[in-house]
Amino acid sequence: MISSFTLYHQLGINYNFIMRTLSILIISILISACSYWPFGGEEPVVVDNKLPYWLNLQARTTDELNMIVIHATELTDLDEAREYGERVLYDESGTGASGHYYIDRDGTIEQYVPDNRIANHVSGWNAKTIGIELINKGRYPNWYHSDHQVMQEAYSEAQINALILLVNKLKARYPTINYTQGHEELDTRMVFSDNNPEVKVPRKMDPGPYFPWDLFIEAVDLKKETPPKE
Ligand SMILES: [Zn+2]
Repeated sequence: MISSFTLYHQLGINYNFIMRTLSILIISILISACSYWPFGGEEPVVVDNKLPYWLNLQARTTDELNMIVIHATELTDLDEAREYGERVLYDESGTGASGHYYIDRDGTIEQYVPDNRIANHVSGWNAKTIGIELINKGRYPNWYHSDHQVMQEAYSEAQINALILLVNKLKARYPTINYTQGHEELDTRMVFSDNNPEVKVPRKMDPGPYFPWDLFIEAVDLKKETPPKE
């Protein structure tokens, strides 16, 4: 026979046990909910997809990074951009030309080159910059035809949203990044057109007039200027 004291005692233990378990459960739910908290900043999903030659690219310290360079691939899709990125153009180093990140039209982000390696994406400005390539047709496939000097495709909302998330994450990670520019501002060289030896066309037009600079600058709080060159 169980006395009333023993019963109370047992109930007391059970009550404490239940309350402790419930507290742990509630705290766990709150902690996991924090990662979805809208004011904590949404995290971009970055797929690691390093180029085969990434180890041949020159290593660098990330504490001198100063600028984000915006590009358009001027190619049809991500597969084609990958193919171009993998091409070895410099025999001595066994490397090619690519950005650090590629953002597809649906907002998928792939990283081809780690931030602490110098990628060949913008002539003269590679050392301290991060290159981000947006999948976009641009002038494809008649890049240097004198009658084809218009960008053909607008940037999707998903693509621009992913870009903003990525740049804000990079800014938080590397506080020395204060500037951003388009490739077209950093490489203003003209080249002879394919079709007419008397007409020159811009070597680079990316990201071009469809890129929403005002919206982007406002969302990432960077200066659309070129940093002083040392
Ligand atoms: Zn470019």
